[in-house]
Amino acid sequence: MNQKILLLAFLKENKAIVVDEPGVTRDRLYGRSFWGDHEFMVVDTGGVITVSKSKNEVMEELAITTTIGMEGIPLASREAAAGLTAADVEIADWLRKHYSHKFVILAVNKCESPKKGIMQVSDFWTLGSFSPLPISALSGTGTGELLDLVCSGLEDLHEEQDEDYVPAISIVGRPNVGKSSILNALVGEDRTIVSPISGTTRDAIDTEFTGPDGQFRLIDTAGIRKRAAVASSGSTTEALSVNRAFRAIRRSDVVALVIEAMACITEQDFKIAERIEKEGKGCLIVVNKWDTIPNKNQQSAVYYEQDVREKLRILQWAPIVYATAISGHSVDRVIVAASEVEKERSRRLSTATLNQVVQEALAFKSPPRTRGGKRGRIYYCTQAAIRPPTFVFFVNDANLFPETYRRYMEKQLRKDAGFPGTPIRLLWRNRR
Ligand code: GDP
Repeated sequence: MNQKILLLAFLKENKAIVVDEPGVTRDRLYGRSFWGDHEFMVVDTGGVITVSKSKNEVMEELAITTTIGMEGIPLASREAAAGLTAADVEIADWLRKHYSHKFVILAVNKCESPKKGIMQVSDFWTLGSFSPLPISALSGTGTGELLDLVCSGLEDLHEEQDEDYVPAISIVGRPNVGKSSILNALVGEDRTIVSPISGTTRDAIDTEFTGPDGQFRLIDTAGIRKRAAVASSGSTTEALSVNRAFRAIRRSDVVALVIEAMACITEQDFKIAERIEKEGKGCLIVVNKWDTIPNKNQQSAVYYEQDVREKLRILQWAPIVYATAISGHSVDRVIVAASEVEKERSRRLSTATLNQVVQEALAFKSPPRTRGGKRGRIYYCTQAAIRPPTFVFFVNDANLFPETYRRYMEKQLRKDAGFPGTPIRLLWRNRR
């Protein structure tokens, strides 16, 4: 199941129902969540959307959340006691207008008693298209049903999205490393502009591209930088370019991080690398201007790779492509590698294979015993999501698995099952 984003609107106090690891991504409004075989991202719109706010503000908040390029299921929540208000009707109209093709969940909170709840939500039936679900964040009533409903919606969303899934590749890196040259070598100067994705960033224009394995969307950050550079000074351009890279990364499936062969890896490269990993994007490192390395021999790439691996340890799983963009040399390898990375990022391991790998890793090295003599046990493991591949370990007590052991397990998983070019996630969950 693909990792999905759920829009969580109007809901602050309920956050604990579904968010179990807040702050996994870079800001506090996101949380990774898990239910059954599904893993999804919960986006809390801040809980600042309350009916006490003016209508315009409400709409504005929702508009912001929906236009930053998220796909998901809107989840509206209301307190039962307040009854149906005029603002609810307006919000419902707004949701209907913007999500006519989508499934919208209306959770009515503070319905502690299941029986009474049915009565308490009756008002909300008048909103039409959304069936109100009585829940109680406090007692947990109805929250299981809510999550089941969310997951059934995710399944639809999954099918819907996969049909026309076109992976996006961005070419990012510091100024002058050769991003435009790579892009030009790939698609020529004369790019077909598809369209700027509505409502998202306007500083990157996408280009359609057919690679050996199918269609890709290339996110061009380079060309636009040139225009921005005219208007700004050197250092501002550098800072701007990192922010632009961050935005491009967010919209990408695979990121080609370009570095220059003769230049050192800088703090800026590291920041970009870190962001790629954090956002769970596929990545390949392109060492460009390979022609500038003097007296190359067969060992050059080996030495170079050691250096890159050392300095960009966070991307040690990323393949490296050596290219000379100005002559077009090896540039097509960028697309071939990106395509392989995308496949890995979307790969599913069967539960049987996965458990075999895990059992072998366990047999080779058990989790450490605590001072009190307790030891972690893994009951079973399943792949809950792709893009990036996410594995859930059901264990007796997640606290009995220290970071070193978690890293060991990740290393073993990579050793036996691969996944080059993509970050992988291991989640540890208690099951009693
Ligand atoms: P960008 O700012 O990352 O988009 O970089 P550009 O593509 O504009 O390239 C910056 C400069 O590096 C230009 O003068 C290019 O001609 C030069 N350049 C790009 N790729 C190569 C290469 O593979 N080898 C050499 N020697 N120069 C290159």
